[in-house]
Amino acid sequence: MKFRSPWQWTVFRASVALLRRLLRPFGNLENRLVENLTRSQNHRVVQHLQNSPAEKMLLIMPRCVKKSDCKADVQNGLEECLQCRQCALGDVALLCDRFGLTALVAFRSHIAFEMARTRNPDLIIATACHDRLIKALRTVPDYPALLAPLPPMEKLCLDAGVDLLWLEEQLALVCGRQPDPSQQPAQVKTCDPPKARMAEGP
Ligand code: SF4
Repeated sequence: MKFRSPWQWTVFRASVALLRRLLRPFGNLENRLVENLTRSQNHRVVQHLQNSPAEKMLLIMPRCVKKSDCKADVQNGLEECLQCRQCALGDVALLCDRFGLTALVAFRSHIAFEMARTRNPDLIIATACHDRLIKALRTVPDYPALLAPLPPMEKLCLDAGVDLLWLEEQLALVCGRQPDPSQQPAQVKTCDPPKARMAEGP
């Protein structure tokens, strides 16, 4: 069954763009709007999955989740992360391993969109900053995508965390399994602070 979403309509996309512009001067209201739109999207996707279970899934993580001084090549898989586990990608790797899934890290949003188009998954699970989530909803509206905003980070685009409980719940939902409370990671995992930063005193 084809996924239906209001993001496929030009009028809806234009209305959201206008609303975001109007809310921008008012503190956190624009982010609240994005979070509400994301929740609605996730609700639609869960309903869609009840009639069209996903067999092919794409899990996309942004590059800022990767520890900033790490040299591992994570664009084609997270095998190194499974052994290392010094940042959130390590826990993502562990969850994927437990559910028998592959995670891919997209270093740019256009790469993530290209991955979606070329791999043509039944479902995308992704986390990204608020702005990128809207960009994804606008750019690839035909794909059912369960989305979560990145938790707040200390520095923009650096050492972001992942809401691992949310991610595990989505993976369990899609794979038809219950989350395993005995193996649950910390709710939001961020990178261990790099040594240089730890050495900085007040
Ligand atoms: S877990 Fe983090 S620090 Fe370790 S290899 Fe993976 S991306 Fe690098």
